[in-house]
Amino acid sequence: MRFRDRLARFFYGRYGIDGLYYALFVTYFIIWCVLLFIDFIPVRLALYALQTATLAWMIFRVLSKNIWARRKENEAFMKIFRAVKNFFVLQKNRIRDFKSYRYVKCTHCKAVLRLPKRKGEHPVICPRCKKRFTAKVRF
Ligand SMILES: [Zn+2]
Repeated sequence: MRFRDRLARFFYGRYGIDGLYYALFVTYFIIWCVLLFIDFIPVRLALYALQTATLAWMIFRVLSKNIWARRKENEAFMKIFRAVKNFFVLQKNRIRDFKSYRYVKCTHCKAVLRLPKRKGEHPVICPRCKKRFTAKVRF
């Protein structure tokens, strides 16, 4: 049997790579970069331990055969990751649209609405929940 076939057989039924794997990889790399600048031995040891734990978790997840549990872990991680990412995308859009739009939260469903920049109070109908509320644009 060729090496490639053996490798394919070994990885058959194992979980593999996902979003959490990439996040752990980035964490591992960041710790590696931080270690370049730190000389204090106890902190270095703690970071080595953290780095080793990260690497061990990465390898464990890739080789795990409990696909359902790994998928659940990834879903929990991705839920947090998406919330953080959406927050930063919203801040970027707020800066980009600062001259012509304002972002307002719906008082009923908390959806973020982009309104044209006009000072004062405006009646708004939320496109998501279809409820009316008054939006204040201060500046
Ligand atoms: Zn709404």
